[in-house]
Amino acid sequence: MNRLWIRLLLQLAAVALVAAVAGLLLGTKPAIWCAIVLVCAMLFYQVRQIGLLLRFMARPEPDALPHGFGIWEEVYYRLNGVMRRLQRETQQAQLEHARFIQAIQASPNGVVMLDRSDYIEWCNSVAEQHFRLDNHRDQLQKIQHLVRQPVFIEYLSGGDFHDPIVMRDMGARGQTMLSVQLIPYGEGRKLLASQDITQIEKTETTRRDFVANVSHELKTPLTVLAGFLETVRDLPLSEEDRQRYIETMHSQAMRMQSLVDDLLTLAKLEGNTAPPEDKIMPMGLTMERLRADAKALSGGRHRIQMECDADWDLAGSEVELMSVFGNLVSNAVRYTPDGGTIKLSWHGPVPGQEGFTANFSVQDSGIGISAEHLPRLTERFYRVDRGRSRSTGGTGLGLSIAKHVLSRHNATLDVQSEIGKGSTFTARFQPSRVRLKTQRPVATA
Ligand code: ADP
Repeated sequence: MNRLWIRLLLQLAAVALVAAVAGLLLGTKPAIWCAIVLVCAMLFYQVRQIGLLLRFMARPEPDALPHGFGIWEEVYYRLNGVMRRLQRETQQAQLEHARFIQAIQASPNGVVMLDRSDYIEWCNSVAEQHFRLDNHRDQLQKIQHLVRQPVFIEYLSGGDFHDPIVMRDMGARGQTMLSVQLIPYGEGRKLLASQDITQIEKTETTRRDFVANVSHELKTPLTVLAGFLETVRDLPLSEEDRQRYIETMHSQAMRMQSLVDDLLTLAKLEGNTAPPEDKIMPMGLTMERLRADAKALSGGRHRIQMECDADWDLAGSEVELMSVFGNLVSNAVRYTPDGGTIKLSWHGPVPGQEGFTANFSVQDSGIGISAEHLPRLTERFYRVDRGRSRSTGGTGLGLSIAKHVLSRHNATLDVQSEIGKGSTFTARFQPSRVRLKTQRPVATA
């Protein structure tokens, strides 16, 4: 027998006892009335407690739990336990829900939760940006009323969500490319997941362009070479013609060689995250060597001038920096018509002067470059005049290599140019990269 029945029987036993005592003292009739009154009082109390319980159930607040005696004390005690447990479970569920929302908010991908009829239930802030939604404003709106690109509408209505689709011109500025996938879950619900693939796509386009460029650059000399080889093999040629053809083949082979060399240099630089070696380059000697190179390349067709602050030396990888300086000199010679002037200069950092950098520059009075080309000069294979670059032995990779080498040396490449008047290419080095002849590092301004 459980405790409730025992309590009830005890109460009835107490009534019987009081009635028995009243019977002994006052007689049978008063005893019966006494028992009736007590049982009625018990019943009244029970009904009143049921009323209180029903009122409480209508608005179950833990602090509003009624009090009672006997059986009701036990009932309220148990009810209080159940309520506390439910309260704890609700708090725990709320906490988990908040954590879940936080995790989805932290995701770099967009997430939109759709109900069975494609109404928006909730979306994270990345999805708000991707699809230009507002989580509060757009809840309970149909997704196809807000994301209206035909490619998406077709995808949504098609019902085949195996593969993602690509959506262009998305995001706040309409410049984002998204990979979008619908993922069915639960009972007919869907998750709309979006990933920003603008950068991936850009990298992929650059890679494709690069492969196409390399193939194209190699194809031209290879075709010429193959053609001449056939001629030399198949036709009876005079010794003079044969010599001429072999010269042409040699120059095409050299062109391929320099292209492959530049490609290897670029690949090495791009894959190399280690800092360059810190060797001291004596700039007096370096500038003399560059002047001699310029003279040899020019073959007397240009006036070559030089200005050198020989007290200042440069710290870095001599091989890499010489290749950059040599490329700037060779470009100046190649893009300056005969009779022009080329000036090489090296200046240490001057406190108070703009940027406080040590500058290596090559100034020419050549063909110049119009402003729209300047920002793209360091892109791989970017040339202003393809024909001129090729005919003078250019690979279109020199300035790209220069940019990488200089950035490895915390330096920048600055280009000033005016069409028809000439160009000045300046490599600007931080003071920490230069040494006075005493080899002490220079304090920054
Ligand atoms: P290239 O091997 O074609 O010279 P670079 O990367 O060295 O390749 O230069 C890229 C392009 O920048 C060149 O094709 C040319 O159009 C332009 N350029 C570079 N230097 C000069 C210069 N001193 N004067 C005019 N144009 C230049």
